[in-house]
Amino acid sequence: MLPLAQVWGVMKLREPRPRLSHRLASLWPGNSFAVSWWPRPHVRLLRPDDPTIALPPRAAWTGVPFTQLAVAAYSNVPGDWIKDVIAPAFGMRTIIHAGGSPLGQVYWGTHRVVEAVAYPTQVSALHERIVEGRKPSACHWCGATVVSERCPFCELGRVPAMPAQTEERS
Ligand SMILES: [Zn+2]
Repeated sequence: MLPLAQVWGVMKLREPRPRLSHRLASLWPGNSFAVSWWPRPHVRLLRPDDPTIALPPRAAWTGVPFTQLAVAAYSNVPGDWIKDVIAPAFGMRTIIHAGGSPLGQVYWGTHRVVEAVAYPTQVSALHERIVEGRKPSACHWCGATVVSERCPFCELGRVPAMPAQTEERS
């Protein structure tokens, strides 16, 4: 999943922390900012001549297409940055629209925000990608069968993969 946002004003934004230059640019009416958590949390001033933002390279999602984009926006927000810039960059045709999220205005410190999240819809392809080359093992604490380095249920590090069962011969 890749969360993104376009926000008009970052004066009250705490995370990701905007630079002082962003806060100053925020005072100028009409300026908007892209906020992304890839490759790390950051804020970027969107300029008319360069409205882009860093996105994961296509190789990162090959086999796990981000085929959908969900967008949550409040009613009085201008612009189509998500539709015109982000969706084409992902090659997405489907955008799901929703109203503003319940705590969005509190988090962003403004009602002038468009939140978006790109997510894969092909769960089987995602599953194949995640477990590729990994052997499942039982978490030594909760017993859940996991393929990740950390157990997603109890957060403990996993133990080595289960050895293949061998028959004892007498
Ligand atoms: Zn566990």
